[in-house]
Amino acid sequence: MAHVVQLTALACAVALVVLWLASAGWAYANARQRCRTGRAALLALAAALVFPLLGAALYALVRPCERDADRRARALWLRTLEELLAEPEQEHCLVCRTPLEPEFVRCPSCATPLTHECDDCGRTIRFGWSACPDCVSGRARPPLRVAA
Ligand SMILES: [Zn+2]
Ligand SMILES: [Zn+2]
Repeated sequence: MAHVVQLTALACAVALVVLWLASAGWAYANARQRCRTGRAALLALAAALVFPLLGAALYALVRPCERDADRRARALWLRTLEELLAEPEQEHCLVCRTPLEPEFVRCPSCATPLTHECDDCGRTIRFGWSACPDCVSGRARPPLRVAA
């Protein structure tokens, strides 16, 4: 019976040592991937070896530096956001929601007129204009397109 207890204790000790070494190896390999300098990887390895399991757990919480793939993904995400913010708002037809270009006079889908002539001077009134720029008395009608 004592043999069984001793063997179990030995197996547990071996398993803990294997787990300790594996966690130290993981911390070192992960730090090598994430950090450009080898010093951080050696520091992670030392911490994982000096403080068994706890060192690797602490490293997993802190994880310094950033992997190149993560850095590239973050830069790409930021660039995408900047392009989205810089892009002017796309206008849509109020009737059928078709995307419109600024020079369109009619909706290409439902043929709704998008501009109209000033009642007084005949100038074309564009979307967003609240009054005719050519005459004092001209009044613009409600716009027939909206920003998305
Ligand atoms: Zn339309
Ligand atoms: Zn006018």
